[in-house]
Amino acid sequence: MKIDILTLFPEMCESVLNESIIGRARSAGIIKVSCLNIRDYANNKHNKVDDYTYGGGMGMIMAADPIYNCFKSLYNEGEAKPHLIYLTPQGETLTQRKALDLSQMDHIVLLCGHYEGVDQRVLDEIVDEEISIGDYVLTGGELPALVLTDTVCRLIKGVLSDDECFTEESHFSGLLEYAQYTRPAVWHEKKVPEVLMSGNHANIAKWRRSMALKVTKAKRPDLLNSAQLTEKEKSEPM
Ligand code: SAM
Repeated sequence: MKIDILTLFPEMCESVLNESIIGRARSAGIIKVSCLNIRDYANNKHNKVDDYTYGGGMGMIMAADPIYNCFKSLYNEGEAKPHLIYLTPQGETLTQRKALDLSQMDHIVLLCGHYEGVDQRVLDEIVDEEISIGDYVLTGGELPALVLTDTVCRLIKGVLSDDECFTEESHFSGLLEYAQYTRPAVWHEKKVPEVLMSGNHANIAKWRRSMALKVTKAKRPDLLNSAQLTEKEKSEPM
């Protein structure tokens, strides 16, 4: 999997991408994530990447040319154009399902906007899809690009120690995850549920499933409408 992030703040992205699980996966060569500085493709005297808004208004707009040149540097004439995602509050909201779909692709490119946004003409010409991380507005697309990169990369084989690390987690099966515990067995007079220390894997799996259903019902009942439930689970009270 290869991810290229087109940004005006590559160091901001690198500082996050070099840490923890994603940093280790990069070092091990399991994923390839690169940050390209759009400013390096400005091709003008002062490396200018933004300009005033036609029609007037507050703030600056990222100009078309530096973004276009930066994107074009990623592939040769005649080669297939990589899938370009523009991070924008106007896009489809990122979900675990979307992350899973993207994790199956060989190469994605993430465009981070800044200031008041990006000249619409370059978006119309090169963008394949628009993704938002939620209904609020951030200063730039860097944090959304890092959120997307993190959630996609952890679904790639070898990044986490086992696929179960994410298949058991919230949102993978449509439910939220069951409650989890670690040592000590008693903390502030609160005991770990007995079944988790029983060593009986069938009972543990049953308990976890019923907890996942309870937690989902309590915190996000809306998810139960699209989760995969057995006929028994649908008919029984949770
Ligand atoms: N003027 C734009 C609008 O109203 O739609 C918002 C521009 S925002 C200040 C600057 C950049 O931050 C955007 O171009 C986009 O790349 C990024 N951004 C802000 N909020 C985002 C969100 N919720 N999801 C994804 N990207 C976001």
